[in-house]
Amino acid sequence: MTALLQVEDLRVAYGKIEAVKGISFTVEAGQVVTLIGTNGAGKTTTLRTLSGLLKPIGGQILFEGKPLTNIPAHKIVSLGLAHSPEGRHIFPRLTITENLLLGAYLRNDKAGIEKDIQRAYDLFPILGERRKQAAGTLSGGEQQMLAMGRALMSQPKLLMLDEPSMGLSPIMMQKIMQTIVELKAQGTTILLVEQNAQAALSLADHGHVMEVGKIVLSGTGQNLLHDESVRKAYLGED
Ligand code: ATP
Repeated sequence: MTALLQVEDLRVAYGKIEAVKGISFTVEAGQVVTLIGTNGAGKTTTLRTLSGLLKPIGGQILFEGKPLTNIPAHKIVSLGLAHSPEGRHIFPRLTITENLLLGAYLRNDKAGIEKDIQRAYDLFPILGERRKQAAGTLSGGEQQMLAMGRALMSQPKLLMLDEPSMGLSPIMMQKIMQTIVELKAQGTTILLVEQNAQAALSLADHGHVMEVGKIVLSGTGQNLLHDESVRKAYLGED
């Protein structure tokens, strides 16, 4: 069976600086796959390239077996890849509902959109309670929920989440991680970039450890969670 996403020898550079130096991995439908690694490892660059925001200098990206390279970002969304970016990028002056509707800008099935807005409120009740308020009044964790809800509004086949736990309190982080488990149970395929290796590996089917633009270690989430080198480097153990 063809994987939903196949990344083969992907290389991405900012000018002369190569930030991603030939990485390969796959995401099967229904899986949660995580990329972990320290600041600057190239994780965000990888997601931005998959979304069509950056052009690779080498390698291939296949989505449902078809090449994504050179397809513009808006077209990539319509093919079924949604990106919840690092730093969230919600629209603070628009209401929560308006922010969610922006995630559905490529759709015109009104009834389906309404249903998915309700689904976002079921997933994150706080968004429903405050639906008419400006999104800028939400806390950081709530804005993260809104960014995830908005990405889901395009009904993605693959949801890419960039550091959803960044800057959140432990309770909020737990809520976000629980939601990822819930989305997986509902059949959503997720590519998760995280610096919180413990949280990400605990729920991922597969994980890849990135260091300075390369994948240095891959395995199941559980194997990596118990790997001695991972525990020392990323889980703060001696
Ligand atoms: P972080 O968690 O900090 O986002 P990351 O693993 O996602 O880390 P990237 O943001 O992909 O890493 O960065 C990879 C490398 O590319 C870093 O060395 C970074 O400084 C560099 N880089 C990122 N964005 C740019 C840019 N716009 N111009 C030049 N270099 C960049």
